[in-house]
Amino acid sequence: MDVVPIPLLSDNYGYLLVGPDGERAAVVDCSDARPVLREVERRGLRLEAILSTHHHFDHVGGNEDVARAVPGVRVIGSRADRARVPALTEALADGESFAVAGLQGRALYIPAHTSGHLAYVFPDGEPSVFSGDTLFAAGCGRLFEGSPAQMMASLGKLAALPDPTRVYFGHEYTLKNLRFAHELEPGNRAIAAKLAHVERLRAEGQPTVPSTIAEEKATNPFLRWRSAELRAGIRARFPDVVDDDVAIFAKTRELKDAY
Ligand code: ZN
Ligand code: FE
Repeated sequence: MDVVPIPLLSDNYGYLLVGPDGERAAVVDCSDARPVLREVERRGLRLEAILSTHHHFDHVGGNEDVARAVPGVRVIGSRADRARVPALTEALADGESFAVAGLQGRALYIPAHTSGHLAYVFPDGEPSVFSGDTLFAAGCGRLFEGSPAQMMASLGKLAALPDPTRVYFGHEYTLKNLRFAHELEPGNRAIAAKLAHVERLRAEGQPTVPSTIAEEKATNPFLRWRSAELRAGIRARFPDVVDDDVAIFAKTRELKDAY
């Protein structure tokens, strides 16, 4: 599977997935039809499907336009978001498999940013996951429709994927996320090294996708509530935060909301 990141809107990514025959394609999160259709045409591809991670406009804003422009295109989304994903034709529940463009995928139900959020996992070859606004490089989505404990469970499902799994996330927030992570764990060398790398990439205007599950476990504060340094730092600044996984996670999320 070839994955082509397409920068959309101000800091979103849509991803064009090119199947093994080099002709059939799908797109993950199409907020704007025009740049996506332009890329499909430029590469001489046939667009079979849109995969929507969640109902927010900056992820589905182009669905209707693509459905009009490409007759018969499939629009796949979460069963829990049937009424909120525009032009939806196929609704998936947790663990359900699907095939698009000659690729085998699986839906992972990961609510909390929104109550219907899905990730799409492609386990074959170089395994990949499209994590939408749930898992970012060194960050996680805001809790619009879920609790801290629910987000921890959803992130835990993603963290349980094999370490080499490539992570394709919904927004280019990596640099700011790593600066926040570095403040929480100044002694974490993996964070410091990735921050230096990402500063160079962004100075050159390069995207920071993909990450990997292994990198996220080493650098993402929202997967690191067990880090002694992170915990001690938060409890030193906020003595009323109890020494409990959910409380530490919730405080981390609250601090990031205001960062
Ligand atoms: Zn969102
Ligand atoms: Fe978003």
